[in-house]
Amino acid sequence: MVESNANRGRDSRGNSGGETVRERRCPWCQSRDVRLVQRGFTGPTDERDQYVTCNTCKRLTYEIISRNSRDMRLGQYRAGGTYRDTRRQTKYDITRVLKVGSNEYLLYVKPIVRSADPIHGGSMRRGRY
Ligand SMILES: [Zn+2]
Repeated sequence: MVESNANRGRDSRGNSGGETVRERRCPWCQSRDVRLVQRGFTGPTDERDQYVTCNTCKRLTYEIISRNSRDMRLGQYRAGGTYRDTRRQTKYDITRVLKVGSNEYLLYVKPIVRSADPIHGGSMRRGRY
C-alpha cells in the first residue's frame, strides 16, 4: 500500500509579509519620539494626508499624500517618480500610486534621506580600547 503522502504544503504563513509592526522612527534623526497622524482623522485642518511628526527635530514626514486628479496631471506624479515637498525642502520617492474614489489619488512615499551623517554611519561600533 503506497501512500502518496500528499503533503500539500500548507502555505499559510501567519504573517502576510511586509513590515512587521514596529515602532516608527524619524527618518531624519532616528528618534522614536514621533507621532503618527493618520489619514482619515478629521483634525483641525481636515487632514487628508498621513504623516509622522518628530518631537525631537520637529520635522514632518509624509507617508501618504492625497492628491486630486488635477494635481496628478500637473505634478506628473507616478510610481518611481519623485515628490518634492518644497515647503520643507524634502524629497520623497513615490513608491506607489493608488486611485481611490473618482477624483482622489494616494501617493505612497518614502523620504529620501541624504546620508550626510558620518558620525553614525558605517560599522564603527567596535573598538574598545
Ligand atoms: Zn526627527
